[in-house]
Amino acid sequence: MSRQFISHDKMTAWLDALSRDRAVLVPMDDCGTVTFRPYVPGRKALLDKMPVRAPKEGVFPQTETLLRFKYDKDPENLDRVKVQVREVLPTQKAVVVGGRPCGARGQLILDRVYNCDTMRDPYYVSRRENTLYVTVACTSAESTCFCHSVGSGPDDSEGSDVLLVPVEGGYVAEGVTERGRELLAEGDFESASQARMDEAGAVISRTRSQLGEAHDYSDAPRKLLERFDDMDFWNEQAAICISCGACTYLCPTCYCFNMTDEQSGLQGKRLRTWDTCMSFEFTLEGSGHNPRPTKAHRLRNRMGHKFAYYPELHEGLIACCGCGRCIKSCPVSLDIRAVVQAAQNHNAVPEEAEEKADA
Ligand code: SF4
Ligand code: SF4
Repeated sequence: MSRQFISHDKMTAWLDALSRDRAVLVPMDDCGTVTFRPYVPGRKALLDKMPVRAPKEGVFPQTETLLRFKYDKDPENLDRVKVQVREVLPTQKAVVVGGRPCGARGQLILDRVYNCDTMRDPYYVSRRENTLYVTVACTSAESTCFCHSVGSGPDDSEGSDVLLVPVEGGYVAEGVTERGRELLAEGDFESASQARMDEAGAVISRTRSQLGEAHDYSDAPRKLLERFDDMDFWNEQAAICISCGACTYLCPTCYCFNMTDEQSGLQGKRLRTWDTCMSFEFTLEGSGHNPRPTKAHRLRNRMGHKFAYYPELHEGLIACCGCGRCIKSCPVSLDIRAVVQAAQNHNAVPEEAEEKADA
């Protein structure tokens, strides 16, 4: 597939064109934080910055209305109440522009949960079908990036419809999917010269070399499960965690939610909102019992889910795209790479030796 090129000034016109009949989410400055916001013509999109929040909110918003309800009371008989329920299915066409390859790949983790043979979440599926991803390849790697250790990389196009590689004066563009190629037709792209394609290749090679050697997670599921009952290990790993939940709220692959009803008078709506497994309340049962009562139990669950349980269910696929957001944004610098590696480095005590020690 031949590559195309678009200059910086024509990029703005392309975003304007895309936003004519679609919602367009782009990274924007929001009080000093780069995060996805609806594109407004005339306001600068920060395509060269990695957004703090994940592009998943294009298809899995932080808060969404699932349905609206209304009570109809019979004035002649106040005991007779009818409830009208109206499902709110999202139908808005959208494009998320400016996520990174790791974030787009994170979408594939969510697909296996919300859009699979055994489960089709109608809200997620509707958004997914109506939303396209225009991803920007990485021109440098941060110390927290480890996408290459989980099967991805700075120009990974999985999960994207269009991949843009920044070069001098603009972007080299690849239409990854048919729908992505249709998006390119709406902009003033030109055929990319060999020199620009070479430059794009050099940008990606440089970023890859900054990532260093990839870590091998192949025995992580087994090693984490071996440590499952070792609460000394988990207490040690979770000692500095303050259960703030930032790691899960910013993660492109976390997909837990809570549902609440908000009512005003005789009408209301049902909301779905992101939730965090790092909070005590997440598993608190009505009886008062909590199966994950300490932060050690909760960190064990988060690590186990991403690096052991999910891979077991999904052909070895690790439920982490290596974006490093949780590491960068954790207020106490808890590094999940270090937790998994500690489990990998931990030598299981052979049962025989344990028995001798006990004797
Ligand atoms: S961001 Fe850090 S401190 Fe906050 S819950 Fe996650 S691991 Fe704990
Ligand atoms: S667990 Fe951390 S590094 Fe992995 S996808 Fe989530 S935020 Fe990114």
